[in-house]
Amino acid sequence: MKGIYLDHAATTPISKAVLDEMMPYLKGSYGNASSIHALGQTSREAIDESRERVARFLNCLPSEIVFTGSATESDNIAILGIADFFLKQGKRIHIITSKIEHPAVLNTCEVLDKRGVEVDYCNVGKDGVIDVSDIEKLIKENTVLVSIMYANNEIGTIQPIIEIGKLIQRINQTREQKICFHTDAVQAVNYLSCDVKELGVDFLTLSAHKIYGPKGVGVLYTKQGTQIEPIVYGGHQEAKLRPGTENTANIVGLGRAIEDISTHKHSTDVMEQLRDKLMDGILNEIKHSRLNGSIDHRLPNNINVSFDGAEGEALVIALDQKGIATSTGSACSSGSLDPSHVLLALGLSHVQAHGSLRMTLGRQTTEKDIDKVLDVLTKIVKKLRTISGYKKSLASERSE
Ligand code: PLP
Repeated sequence: MKGIYLDHAATTPISKAVLDEMMPYLKGSYGNASSIHALGQTSREAIDESRERVARFLNCLPSEIVFTGSATESDNIAILGIADFFLKQGKRIHIITSKIEHPAVLNTCEVLDKRGVEVDYCNVGKDGVIDVSDIEKLIKENTVLVSIMYANNEIGTIQPIIEIGKLIQRINQTREQKICFHTDAVQAVNYLSCDVKELGVDFLTLSAHKIYGPKGVGVLYTKQGTQIEPIVYGGHQEAKLRPGTENTANIVGLGRAIEDISTHKHSTDVMEQLRDKLMDGILNEIKHSRLNGSIDHRLPNNINVSFDGAEGEALVIALDQKGIATSTGSACSSGSLDPSHVLLALGLSHVQAHGSLRMTLGRQTTEKDIDKVLDVLTKIVKKLRTISGYKKSLASERSE
């Protein structure tokens, strides 16, 4: 695509190396990995190799990797599967999550809420970061699961997963009914360590299309020995937690994408510098603009800003007309006119939450792109403020 793509939190382009590795399984090597013949075994070997690559990245056993159809599915399997294990025994259970989770977690918890499971939604601070002591306060005798995202998809804030993991491990030492810890690491995988032992998690979700891999394939790390029921029934595939014929090409692509992450660490540093240049430029050049979410505990590619007197949707459309792809929040909730639940949780008003713009950089973003975006955005905000009748005195830009 020509133009400037600043929506990498929604999805990333598939890398050439990933595509090249997938192609043989899309073109010729079509065997079902469960078949005994040579064609089937070629697929089985490819899937096994990918499982090993993911396991190396997460520092776990290959047998603890479950390939799924998406991160949404991984989140559902973890949350519904753990709940079902206890519900089938007639137990009353309690789950803790946060107010700023992705809909894949929030809506799944809501389903459980309607089925009689007690769900608590932990608050975040004004900076979008959870206070670990707030999680501790919410823990009850019948808490079976804590599900907290590693990094937020809208504002890029990074949660203290290691500290929450330590808290749960400490509490688990004193109780018979252990608490499981799940993290949705979809947005974190590109940038943060996802060593599951270091994080102290029992379940971890990730998705290939956020890491320059194909769409429609995810992973659920499932710690050995954890108690979980399948939510879909069928064959023996993926330890019976995700039955169905494996998507060999996608799984191969995911394995390659995850292995390539470490080779792009350098570009992450560059990305952070470019992000800071754009962020500082916006906050300095465009008056009455605010950064949403913590500046310190933030993914290196994320900017989420609000502009008084300029609607987020209008900004996205106007930028798109200039060939710049951005977003108002999560791709899954675009199309909905509801203000972002994440920004509301930070304490923003409905009007402020409507005026936000998310820009997420990627491996291909250049300094030239950043200069262009800053220039175009400054003009667009000014124009939209004029149209919306936003007070001239407040809107007067330094560039005027
Ligand atoms: N969780 C988070 C934090 C996300 O950002 C996303 C995608 O935006 C998902 C889950 C869902 O991922 P998938 O598209 O693989 O279902």
